[in-house]
Amino acid sequence: MRKIFVPDAATMPKTAEVVVIGGGIVGVATAFWLSRAGLDTVLIEMREGLSTLTTPLSIESFRAQMTEKAMADLVLPSIRMYENFADTVGIPGHDIALKHQGYLFVSDDVVNAERLKQAVAVHHGYGVAGSEFLAADDIRQRFPYISERMVCGTFHQNDGWLSSHEATQGFAKGSTAKFLLQTKVSGIDTDAEGICAVRTTRGSIATRQVVNAAGPFAQSIAAMVGVTLPIEAVRRQKVHVAPKPQIPRAAPLCIDVGQETYWRPEHGGALMAWVDPDEPVTANPVEDVPTDWDFAAVLLDKITALSPFWAGVAETLSSSDLTTTAGYYMYTPDDQPLIGPVPEVKGLHLNCGYWAGVMLSPEAGRRVARLLTGEMQPTDNPLRLSRFAEGLVSTGDSFLRGRH
Ligand SMILES: Cc1cc2nc3c(=O)[nH]c(=O)nc-3n(C[C@H](O)[C@H](O)[C@H](O)COP(=O)(O)OP(=O)(O)OC[C@H]3O[C@@H](n4cnc5c(N)ncnc54)[C@H](O)[C@@H]3O)c2cc1C
Repeated sequence: MRKIFVPDAATMPKTAEVVVIGGGIVGVATAFWLSRAGLDTVLIEMREGLSTLTTPLSIESFRAQMTEKAMADLVLPSIRMYENFADTVGIPGHDIALKHQGYLFVSDDVVNAERLKQAVAVHHGYGVAGSEFLAADDIRQRFPYISERMVCGTFHQNDGWLSSHEATQGFAKGSTAKFLLQTKVSGIDTDAEGICAVRTTRGSIATRQVVNAAGPFAQSIAAMVGVTLPIEAVRRQKVHVAPKPQIPRAAPLCIDVGQETYWRPEHGGALMAWVDPDEPVTANPVEDVPTDWDFAAVLLDKITALSPFWAGVAETLSSSDLTTTAGYYMYTPDDQPLIGPVPEVKGLHLNCGYWAGVMLSPEAGRRVARLLTGEMQPTDNPLRLSRFAEGLVSTGDSFLRGRH
């Protein structure tokens, strides 16, 4: 029997030990680990395919350069899983096109040198030995396409990017979960013992455990059982630039810390974005996120301050060379995700609130499974929802979040 399918009356599961809501990379990685733990797992996705909402809109990059302990604890094992992905999912030869081309953070303000040095020291403390501080001369020598205005930076060669689509598909194919497409969750029922069923547009599934991995719609899922999540959606736009000979193919992901702009090569072209700190919070997220008609032009102008060759490229571009797309970053009060059980509603678990869900999802999914099976205690999970009420929040200094 197929495991990724559009159910009908005959194939719609009637029961499950656990239901995962959301078929982006976060939900699918969660379903993978839950099924690996031996649980009868059903994932519900309202769209026509897995990995079709926020996940494919990302620039698919990962970095070990994190300064928050809780984020490092998620991303470092996640990167190891990505590096050994075929073994992780048990599918020989499954290729996620992983590239270790590095992340380069640079700043034009010498005042940032101390902050960047401290970030590198924190990375080293987490075992990320290859993270380096770069002075102006190092940047010039090693990355000649970076503006001479940039006076300090950090670099980690082992950071990089991958195909989030292939990773999502690998998690799905490697799992024994069922993945229901074109099936929308419309309600969650509870009884005296907690959650008892998930209602969908194709019928109900009796279950005692639900994982909310609904990405930008996680709040509306939580609201079905009266829970308010401290998550805000902020639109983030990205531009794909068609192949041009001036774009260095071997470049890392290059980030201007001051402006929060970045670009990286992609098949002879490039992906670029601006994490605009003035972008407002969206009260009602939508599936088709609108883009600004002038975003690509504004971004090309800004990105020239990071890499001047973009001014020359811009002169050669026609509108058909540029594709702008938009999705959401989901922010929590400490900009770290919400993971694990919600004590107020027995059976409800969270895996949401991401602005970097591609790079964090492998370990986050495993953690949800460990918490749900009792292998990990909620108090050992610093990303539990109750951390805010408990006053256990610690913010870090990871760049590129678009919030200060
Ligand atoms: C421009 C941009 C660049 C980014 N770059 C990176 C990057 O380089 N690295 C990185 O790690 N992250 C990056 N991100 C963030 C990353 O894309 C997200 O954090 C990640 O994709 C979130 O995955 P998800 O599975 O939680 O959400 P989604 O992919 O949105 O999946 C959620 C799913 O839930 C489904 N769903 C919702 N409600 C229901 C319902 N009622 N019933 C059934 N299904 C439902 C939706 O249809 C959707 O498929 C970027 C994001 C953007 C916008």
